[in-house]
Amino acid sequence: MYMTTSAVEILAQIKREAEETGCSEKELIRKHIQQRNSRNLSAFAAKPFSERILLLPQCLRNPDCPAPQNEEGYICQQCSPDCQVNKLSQEATRLGYKSSYILPGGSMLKHIIAKTQPKAVIGISCEEEALLGILLLEKYGIVAVGILLTRDGCYNTTVNLETVLSVLSLTQ
Ligand code: SF4
Repeated sequence: MYMTTSAVEILAQIKREAEETGCSEKELIRKHIQQRNSRNLSAFAAKPFSERILLLPQCLRNPDCPAPQNEEGYICQQCSPDCQVNKLSQEATRLGYKSSYILPGGSMLKHIIAKTQPKAVIGISCEEEALLGILLLEKYGIVAVGILLTRDGCYNTTVNLETVLSVLSLTQ
């Protein structure tokens, strides 16, 4: 993931704070994300669905996912009604979202933003990726909300579906 100057500074500040307080860096990053989410939620709700995109992490796919990959991430084949990625991307489509993407990593974010030019982004990821993504999107003037995985790692992760669905459908 591309790091903005403010991201470098904030991560350095978090590292110092973790050393001084004994809190874990992960916990401190979570606090930053919560603060930014609280600040951004009403602006997010004000953007029409057609100007929003949904970003899903590849690790949220079912372990035996057959989705092929191209320059815009994985292309869901809708093979499993139980797959969290499938449920969320279908809901985004039903609501009228501009698009949703299944990303293999944060490095594709700039390309997707340049292509889709969204006004708001909801992304699901682990702590550090979420913070870096939000900071990058803020730099572009795009409203961002990050939802953290409830089980992280690079494989077979999970998210609280109800939480994501409630933010996904937020309106003013
Ligand atoms: S529903 Fe889509 S993302 Fe989920 S396992 Fe099948 S192809 Fe992969």
